[in-house]
Amino acid sequence: MMTQNQLQEVIAQAVRSVPVVDAHTHLFTPAFPGLLLRGIDDLLTYHYLVAETLRYHPEKTEEFWRLSVQKQADLVWQTLFIERSPVSEACRGVLTVLRAYGLDLGCRDLTAYRRFFAGLDPEAQVDIVFKEANLKYVVMTNDPFEPVEKVYWQQGVGVDPRFRAALRLDPLLNRWPETAGSLEAEGYEVQADLSGQTSAEVRRFLTDWAKRMNPLYLAVSLPPDFIYPDPAPRGRLLKEVILPFCQEHGKPLALMIGVKKLVNPSLRLAGDSVGKALINTVESLCVENPEVKFFLTMLARENQHELVVAARKFGNLMPFGCWWFLNNPSLIREITRMRLELLGLSFVPQHSDARVLDQLIYKWSHSKQLIIEVLTEAYTALAETGWKLSAAGIKQDVERLFFRNFEEFMGIE
Ligand SMILES: [Zn+2]
Repeated sequence: MMTQNQLQEVIAQAVRSVPVVDAHTHLFTPAFPGLLLRGIDDLLTYHYLVAETLRYHPEKTEEFWRLSVQKQADLVWQTLFIERSPVSEACRGVLTVLRAYGLDLGCRDLTAYRRFFAGLDPEAQVDIVFKEANLKYVVMTNDPFEPVEKVYWQQGVGVDPRFRAALRLDPLLNRWPETAGSLEAEGYEVQADLSGQTSAEVRRFLTDWAKRMNPLYLAVSLPPDFIYPDPAPRGRLLKEVILPFCQEHGKPLALMIGVKKLVNPSLRLAGDSVGKALINTVESLCVENPEVKFFLTMLARENQHELVVAARKFGNLMPFGCWWFLNNPSLIREITRMRLELLGLSFVPQHSDARVLDQLIYKWSHSKQLIIEVLTEAYTALAETGWKLSAAGIKQDVERLFFRNFEEFMGIE
């Protein structure tokens, strides 16, 4: 019989030592020069912090975007870390990162922090971060319509195996018919009204890109009013092209539902918001496509309970992560607890959504701490029934949560 202290220690040890798969990030392999964000200025100009800064200085919004990244970072630092205590989750994240690198938080000297990061070579920095966060690999977001990134794939640049690909479909599904024009320019015979060879040609486009990227899954972010079935281009492309493609190639489709784009356009990347989405859509997709696997996250807190219930009904639905505005301690606790209570161990509790390499450090250390707390509560309640817990059994459960569920769902051996 384990004592409460031993139990806590076993759980903490299992979570801290488990290799993590980060199922969704916006990071890039250093093999794609210019795309990997890293270091203090990129940390400070993360869109979460830009939104927080401009709340205090709405009058500076237009001017902000004309500043260099370094000047933007100066304003963020001054506003959120010097003139006020950095109490928000995104602010605390920066401090967790600085501390992990052994930097002196007492000096509050941005110039010294800059000097430190300037001395890091990108490859070495990837090694440090992966070791610190104990990552097995991260999944990127790879958009074949992004002009810079696209060229690296076309050139066949060798990708670091710690960075896996995910084929992003947003332009195709959210910006048709503009995207039809880009496809046509690249030699695919598509029509804006989806007539003729369009379905076959979009499918050829996906096949070409899947060959280049070898993605683990296909992915799209969707607005709160996303519906399926839908006679509009998005619904037709899903039905006629994407879903059959996923089925045939055994690739899951990742759906990230609930983003209200550019509610405040002047904030740019920081200007998106959240809306409650329709769970019926998720249920229709799952019931009509039993051979397709849906890796799914929703942005609204109001959708979390019904998503968990839907997942109880469909083995082809895997809820993942506490996304964006949900990636805060109070909500991670609540959502993880609810998932554990209703789904047992059959979910993927977290992904980082990191845009800056160093964020992997804080996003994982903060989340792990919360998951340890939730697991401790659950195992304690279990032990109280008289059930015998073992360190090996707990380790196995933790492995499911941090990489095995993901890999099995993705069909990775
Ligand atoms: Zn994302």
